Amino acid sequence: RPVLMWFRRDLRLSDHPALTAACNSGGPVIPVFIHDEIVETTGAAARMRWGMSIEALAKSLEEKGSKLILRKGNALEVLKDLIKETGAGVVHWSRLYDPACRERDTDVKSALKDMDIEAESHSGHLLFEPWTVETKDGGFYKVYTPMWNAVKGRELPSQLSAPSNIPAPDSWPKSDKLDDWNMDVDMRRGADIVKSYQVVGETSARSRLSSFTAHRIETYKEERDYPAIDAGSRLSENLTYGEIAPLSIWYAGQRARDEGKAGAEHFLKELVWREFAYHLIYHTPHITNDNWREKWNDFPWNTDERKKEVKAWKQGRTGEPFVDAAMREMYVTGTMHNRSRMIVASYLTKHLMTHWDVGMRWFEDCLTDWDPASNALGWQWTAGSGPDAAPYFRIYNPATQCDKFDENGTYRDTWIAEGRSNPAKEALQYFDAIPERWNMSADDAYPGRIIDLDEGRQRALEAYQGYKD
Ligand code: FAD
Repeated sequence: RPVLMWFRRDLRLSDHPALTAACNSGGPVIPVFIHDEIVETTGAAARMRWGMSIEALAKSLEEKGSKLILRKGNALEVLKDLIKETGAGVVHWSRLYDPACRERDTDVKSALKDMDIEAESHSGHLLFEPWTVETKDGGFYKVYTPMWNAVKGRELPSQLSAPSNIPAPDSWPKSDKLDDWNMDVDMRRGADIVKSYQVVGETSARSRLSSFTAHRIETYKEERDYPAIDAGSRLSENLTYGEIAPLSIWYAGQRARDEGKAGAEHFLKELVWREFAYHLIYHTPHITNDNWREKWNDFPWNTDERKKEVKAWKQGRTGEPFVDAAMREMYVTGTMHNRSRMIVASYLTKHLMTHWDVGMRWFEDCLTDWDPASNALGWQWTAGSGPDAAPYFRIYNPATQCDKFDENGTYRDTWIAEGRSNPAKEALQYFDAIPERWNMSADDAYPGRIIDLDEGRQRALEAYQGYKD
């Protein structure tokens, strides 16, 4: 009997327990991607990037004599149709952990069970399933370091190579055309520019990993805080769509560590921040839309997105070069350096006293590595309302951060054109990417500060007084 392999955020062939199980089932395998409501409501840049990933997966499957069937609609209804059309008896998928996906998957599983269809969910999106990592008291980790200590020495399953053969059915069910899905429809801005920065698909993700472990992991720890240096792996983009498994990265990091490469241990630690974020979203799903710590509910955040300082933040016009460079970097490339993410988030939530949710949703719209768990944790951690949060008094000063981490102004000059006689290509691309209604030009004068940094810091410290732990 045929089996359905429902791909979602696991768009690869290797280290893929669900696909391996489907291929070992003995029946023909029908790979499917469903453009359902969850895909439909994903932020503009991430949805566009998802489309690029689907295209790459479809090609890899074709090279194996298989095919990716594309269907649009409610996931359960599509699966029911496919079961009827193909006579499939089992559906395999890789588990996801954010509240919307869990709700959908639980409903699908129980409906399929009622139809006597087996639904088999597999690991693959994480290194450690959230229910397998517990504190001594049987709870989950709310602080990162003890979690790292608990998992760092754990045995993990062996790696799985891509199936050598994906058994094909005699005839394929009909499929939509990817182009008809118009997955970049909501970009309403320089989609082609953002696309040109993407490194798409499993093969590219694997090369990215090997080039990182061969050339950059050695200096990762010292250089990762400097946004003008290409020091990180940049694998978040590929992890988001599952073009590479965290397991593949983990083993590569461990090999580098065993070869004595400095920086490897630190890299593995960062990968476990992603696990930490996922365990938190699993155990405390409210992290995606409410203050993780309830006492923050009456904090006097600004929630009005129309305020001019919020607009200035989104548009990279705050007059703080570090903040503006970072916001423009995200707009053009779809990603932002980790230190820059912390600085722009701190500036918005502390200097501008604006709710983290406003920033989190803007990131969701602009990032091509948007991840529901890491984004929510990153914002709440920086704002102070989240688990293992930055202390209330840590208000990054974007000017001194510039002096420290962008001493020569390379990052600033890469992204800010105003006031320069010969602006960088990237800085000019920003003006091609933004919507006309923003009414910005590279010939404008660079804006003055929208808030005095000391005043903003003082105001935030006063407001934060009542929220110390
Ligand atoms: P590397 O430094 O090479 O690290 C390797 C991997 O470890 C990353 O690919 C990522 O999967 C993981 N990792 C590293 N740092 C973190 C972290 N702080 N939290 C969770 N995982 C981490 N990351 C996303 O993937 N998607 C998001 O939407 C996202 N939003 C963020 C929002 C804010 C406000 C902040 C402060 C951080 C956010 N992060 C997010 C985390 C982090 O900034 C990115 O994972 C990192 O910049 C990715 O670059 P890299 O792949 O070169 O990472």
